[in-house]
Parts: sequence; C-alpha cells; structure tokens
Amino acid sequence: MAEVTLGRTGITVQKDGFGALPIQRRTLEDALPILRRALDSGINFFDTARSYSDSEEKLGKAISGQRDSFIIASKSPAATARDYLMDLETSLRNLKTDRIDIYQFHNPEKIPRPGDPSGLYEAAQDARAAGKIRFIGISNHRLPVAAEAVRSGLYDTLQFPFNYLSSGKEEDLVALCKEKGVGFIGMKGLSGGLITDIGAARAWIARFDSVVPIWGIQTMGELESLIAAVRRDEKAPTAEQQARIEKDRRELCGEFCRSCGYCAPCRAGIKIFNCARMSLLLRRMPSANFLTPEWRREMEKIKDCQDCGDCEARCPYSLPIRELLKKNYEDYQTFL
Ligand code: SF4
Ligand code: SF4
Repeated sequence: MAEVTLGRTGITVQKDGFGALPIQRRTLEDALPILRRALDSGINFFDTARSYSDSEEKLGKAISGQRDSFIIASKSPAATARDYLMDLETSLRNLKTDRIDIYQFHNPEKIPRPGDPSGLYEAAQDARAAGKIRFIGISNHRLPVAAEAVRSGLYDTLQFPFNYLSSGKEEDLVALCKEKGVGFIGMKGLSGGLITDIGAARAWIARFDSVVPIWGIQTMGELESLIAAVRRDEKAPTAEQQARIEKDRRELCGEFCRSCGYCAPCRAGIKIFNCARMSLLLRRMPSANFLTPEWRREMEKIKDCQDCGDCEARCPYSLPIRELLKKNYEDYQTFL
C-alpha cells in the first residue's frame, strides 16, 4: 500500500482513505461490519462531517478502543464561532475521542480569516490550542475559494473534488497545494456514482503522489472492489482502464450534475442531486433501479418547480439546473 503525507501536517496515511458520507444511508448493523472490514484491511484515514447525519456516531462505534491507530477528519458547516465550538463538542462525543486530527470548515462561500466578524478562525485556533483539534482544514467545491484558501497560508489541508473527469484547473490546484505545503484530500473520486470503475479511478489518481482520495463507500461490495484495487496497486491505468476513462470523459464532459447536494433544499421538494442527472443514471446503472413508482413520483415533482432560482444560486458548478431538470424529465418519459 502506498502512503501519502498530508502537506505540512506531517500526517502520513495510507493512500486510500474512507469517505464516510454514504454510511449515513445504512443502518448501524449494516454500517459497522463495513467500517470494521475497512479498518482491518489497512485503511487508516476516515473522513466524516457533522452534516452527514449519524456518520460520526457510526465511525465512533467502529473505532472505539483503537482510536490511536487511525487518523480522523470531520467538518463543521457552522457560520459562527459559537456554533463551531458546539459542533466540535458534538463531533468529539460522537467519535468517542478527545481530539480530531483535522477539523475542516465545510464548504464555506468565503474562507474564514482571523479578524472577520464570524470569529470562526479564532474559534478553530482556540480549539487547536486546547488540543481538541490538531490541524485546521477546509473543504470546498468552488475553485476560486479553494485556491484562495491554499494561498492564504491559513489552512493545513484542502478537501476538493478530484477524479478523472476533473480539468487541468484542478490538477493545477493539486500542484499549488503541494507547493504551499497544504495537504490535498480528494473527494468525489467516483463523481457521485457516475464513475463506476473504482480500479480505473484509483489507477488514474495514483500519479498524484500528494493526494489522498477518500472513497465514498456504502456497501461491502464497494469496499471489496476498493480493497482489490488497492491490492493490485496499479501506478497508472491499464490500456483497458484508459479506454474506459476516455469513454467516460467523452460522455460526461460539460454540464452535468456532480450530486454534491449543495443546491438543497428545493422549495418544491425536488431531489435535484439525482433528478438533474437522471439521464446519466438510467444509462450508466441498471435503469430498472430508477423506474420504480417511488422514482416516478420523484421525477413528477419536477413539474412543481416554482422557478425561484434558489438552487442555481447555490450550485458551485453554476449549472442551469431548471433546464437540466426539464431535459431529464423529458428523457425519463421515453423510458416509461
Ligand atoms: S428553481 Fe425549482 S428546482 Fe430550483 S429550488 Fe426553486 S423550485 Fe426547486
Ligand atoms: S445541481 Fe449543482 S449543487 Fe445541485 S447536486 Fe448537482 S452539482 Fe451539486
């Protein structure tokens, strides 16, 4: 297994980390064996967040009694110092630990800075001085905000989407992090489920020796695929994987929904993060999964769109969401 040091933190972890967002969708009984299998396989970096419902609690139960063997990152979306410190106490309690290795500001629109009215950065500094967090990180989905965070010198790590659908700009961001000594945690390695070959995704990312990808794992099958890919430890895509990568790039270039969920909530109750990419889901996964009565009802909600535009103002990729929803709705009808 390859190892990566996360910039100036000096924290060295196995190259492949565990993204604990999807386990919020599993029961505790189903999630614990997955987490324990990951721990036993040698994965030693786990990323979670206050916003991932009970993900922290599940992780806390899985690592209980062996805390020192793992590096844990979590996040707070707080907008005030008070809420940040309350979030941190909740994270510590949920994770059953007295310290979190990397505590990240979760996708803020503006980076917290010392002296700004939120007091967030000072709160993080206080938490670090008290030994409750070891390093101050930030996650983001916006390139300009992420680049500003890296250049500011205020952050030890950056978490940003990174996969073989990324552009040269994201590769430049990885290089900038390396130059500035900022650890790079790569999220969305499978682009929210649109990349279905984890072996190809992992082989592509292997050449970025400063990046720790966190793979979002929801099932034991997904975890076993990851473990098999880690064992093969390909340093570059095989010819077959490269052909897959090029095919995906052709099919998924341009404006497509990355399923990040930042456009929520929708006042019409539309599940934008899936409905706005339904055409892709129908073609890249077994279509029957999305033709159930439940999904038909979800897709019908698109007709209730109130044209408020709130979702588009929140989308970090500036997608024309209303247009995408309309196109996906029309395409969906052709499958019925
Ligand atoms: S524009 Fe439509 S889809 Fe977007 S938030 Fe408003 S109601 Fe929802
Ligand atoms: S529409 Fe934009 S904000 Fe909403 S899930 Fe897709 S990429 Fe994310």
